[in-house]
Amino acid sequence: VQQVANQCAIAMRQARLYQAAQAQVQALEALNQLKDDFLSTVSHELRTPVSNMKMAIQMLKIAPSIERRQRYLEILQMECTREIELINDLLDLQRLESQADGIALEETILLPDWLPSVIEPFRSRIQERQQILHMDVPADLPPLISDHTNLGRVLAELINNACKYTPAGHQIILSTWCESESLAIAPTPQPVIALRVRNQANIPAAQLDRVFEKFYRVPHADPWQQGGTGLGLALVQKLVEQLQGVLQVESNNGWTTFTVQLPAQPQIL
Ligand code: ADP
Repeated sequence: VQQVANQCAIAMRQARLYQAAQAQVQALEALNQLKDDFLSTVSHELRTPVSNMKMAIQMLKIAPSIERRQRYLEILQMECTREIELINDLLDLQRLESQADGIALEETILLPDWLPSVIEPFRSRIQERQQILHMDVPADLPPLISDHTNLGRVLAELINNACKYTPAGHQIILSTWCESESLAIAPTPQPVIALRVRNQANIPAAQLDRVFEKFYRVPHADPWQQGGTGLGLALVQKLVEQLQGVLQVESNNGWTTFTVQLPAQPQIL
C-alpha cells in the first residue's frame, strides 16, 4: 500500500510539473506571437512612407509642369518627415520600455513660470489655424518635483494633438490645479498636481479605449491630412507612468479632455 501511495505522489508531482511547464510554454508562445505581430505592424508602418516616396520620385521624373514637380517634392518631404517621426517615436518607446530604473524625478518645476515656455512653440500654429487658446494656471500652485524634459514631452504631445484635431475657430484649454488628496499613486496622502489639456474635438466612444494603442489612429475623413504616427499617446502613457502619474481621457459633447495627475512629491526610487 505504501509503495502504491509513493508512486501516486510521484505521479501527481510529475503531473503538476508538466502543467507548470505547459503554462510556461503557452506564455512564451503568446509573447512570441505578440513580438511577431508588433514586428509585422512596424515593418508595414515603416514601409508605407518609403513606398509613397518611391511613387513620388517616379511621378517627379515624368511631371509635365513646374507646379506638378513642386507638388511631388512636397509629398517627398512630407513622407520623409513621417518616416523620421516614426523612427524617432519607436526609438523613444523602446527606450522607455527598456528603462527598468525609471526616470529620476528630482527637478523642482514651478508650473506658472514654466508652462508659457512649453506653449510658446505652438502659439504661431494656433494663431494660423485660428484656434482659441485659454490658459488657467493659478499663480499660487505648489512646486512640483518631477522632470522638465519628460513632462515637457507629455505636454507637447497633448498640446500638439489638440492643435492637430481642433477645427478653426474652436477652443483649446490648458489648465492646472492642486488636489489635496492623493490618488492610488502615492503610498501616503499628499498633494496631487493635475494638468489638463481640453479641446473642442470629439473622439467617438467606440474608439476611445484604443487611442493609447501603438499605431492606432481614429479613422478621419482624411486620416493622413493631419500627419502623425499613432504612437504619440502610447508614448504619453508610458511617460506618465514613469513620472509616477495617472493619465485619463474623456470625450463627450464635442470636447476631448486629457488629464495627467502627478504626485507633487514623487517617491524616491
Ligand atoms: P496620432 O499620431 O494619430 O496623432 P496619437 O497616438 O497621438 O496618434 O493619437 C491617436 C488618435 O487619437 C489620433 O489619431 C486622433 O484621432 C485621436 N486624438 C488624439 N488626441 C486627440 C485630441 N486632442 N482631440 C481629438 N482626437 C484626438
